[in-house]
Amino acid sequence: MRSDLAALFIIFGGSGDLAQRKLYPALFNLYRKGYLKESFAVIGTARRPWTDEHYHEIVMASLEGFEEDDETKQTFTSHLYYQSHDVTDAEHYETLKALAAKLDDKYQLNQNRIYYMAMSPRYFGTIASHLGSEALLTADGFNRLIIEKPFGRDYESAKALNQELTQTFDENQIYRIDHYLGKEMIQNIVALRFGNGLLSGVWNNQFIDNVQITLAESVGVEERAGYYETSGALRDMLQNHIMQVIGMLAMEVPVNFSAEDVQREKTRLFRSIQPYSPAEIKQNFVRAQYAETTVDGENKPGYRQETNVAPDSQTETFVAGKVMIDNERWCGVPFYVRTGKRLARKETQINIVFKKTGVNIFADDKSDRSAMAPDVLTIYVEPEQGFSLTINGKEVGQGFSLKPDQLNYQYDKQMLADSPEAYERLILEALNGDGTNFTHWHELAASWQFVDAIRQVWDADQTPLPTYSIGSMGPKEATDLLASTDAKWIFDPTQTKK
Ligand code: NAD
Repeated sequence: MRSDLAALFIIFGGSGDLAQRKLYPALFNLYRKGYLKESFAVIGTARRPWTDEHYHEIVMASLEGFEEDDETKQTFTSHLYYQSHDVTDAEHYETLKALAAKLDDKYQLNQNRIYYMAMSPRYFGTIASHLGSEALLTADGFNRLIIEKPFGRDYESAKALNQELTQTFDENQIYRIDHYLGKEMIQNIVALRFGNGLLSGVWNNQFIDNVQITLAESVGVEERAGYYETSGALRDMLQNHIMQVIGMLAMEVPVNFSAEDVQREKTRLFRSIQPYSPAEIKQNFVRAQYAETTVDGENKPGYRQETNVAPDSQTETFVAGKVMIDNERWCGVPFYVRTGKRLARKETQINIVFKKTGVNIFADDKSDRSAMAPDVLTIYVEPEQGFSLTINGKEVGQGFSLKPDQLNYQYDKQMLADSPEAYERLILEALNGDGTNFTHWHELAASWQFVDAIRQVWDADQTPLPTYSIGSMGPKEATDLLASTDAKWIFDPTQTKK
């Protein structure tokens, strides 16, 4: 048994959707792979008065997709305890503390504790202060706080939340989760960038023309309309996931691949993002809503027709923008970003578009010797995972014309079958005290400030939002963003089937 992996997990929101869909399967994966052995325990807390038996049934149901036999699952769930707990009631922390101490003895947990906030963000501050005031933090083991998104809804609220948390926890005890940083291919970005001389040498504005990041969803708001109405795509996807992807793609080389060095470089990068004036925001950022659309003869509701959405809602379900970075490496290179719901296909893809060099000496038409497709490095994040390099070769046959060819590497299903899911990976990293793939407060502060400026301009502008058809890749305005240059969106499933 590796004693460094002994820990008690206290999950606030233990009956919730995140806990059931992601956290219990992730913990079970760590268990069946041997990262968690005898010395671990979980306390699930929520308001409902459940018994341990009922809690175990709920957890067993969340493990249905696993092939392991029931006995293995039951041995795992025997380490799980339920505590009915109202997070606003100080007395309940006394009960929690007593149970934690008992489990600490029973499973020899070395007083190591991971507090997982898997409930409404409005309680994050309350829970952290009670953990401090009711003395749940242990003196001898580690105390780490894993905190879910959203971390605030603007810079001011994020700052206030951070101040509340840091009264009890130090920055290096806080693990702000962005599950994108737990994805295999997002982690792979640094391997590609810093593990290949071929790429690291050209990873700058001399060779790269533009960078494109697309996080496309095919689903609508589904049951989350209540939350989504207060958030929108800018806060829900751009402020966190897209900004973190930009961070991984564009940060300078960290001294080491460690939390301290990576978080420092990402913070420096975010601080180098060019601030826009209100007029520049209108020019460089586009928002839109999906409209009622007939797909294959069936009428699909637009965003404003969805349940729990205001009929005159100004909440954006799509955002696209051009982000510029004012530093020596990236000056002049647009980072085009795009995310939205009800788009043509669920896919996350990154395209690094290289500058065309020289002239096309093979062009038939001598007056158009620039006609040549750019070289493109594509990183497939999901659902497929892998990368490809599109380069020009000679078209087979007589004559001499250029044709883009793809050097393609896709991880095969077998290889990925047991690869850890984002939550599994990140929980293990937190257990090991490795914060490299979590976000530092300084990164968040800078990204909120960038996003707030956009939000303010949009909130002041009551003109109806542009709309887009369900199954498209967003409004025309998103295509027009690139029109002033020679570039176009590389990923366009409405044009080509991959
Ligand atoms: P949920 O509404 O399904 O669960 C909330 C949990 O909090 C429940 O267990 C509920 O009983 C408990 N709770 C509410 N008030 C309480 C109180 N006063 N005292 C004690 N317990 C109380 O929410 P969720 O979807 O699981 O989301 C939890 C957090 O995770 C949120 O911050 C959300 O933004 C974030 N998140 C969720 C997902 C997801 O896929 N569900 C994805 C990313 C982030």
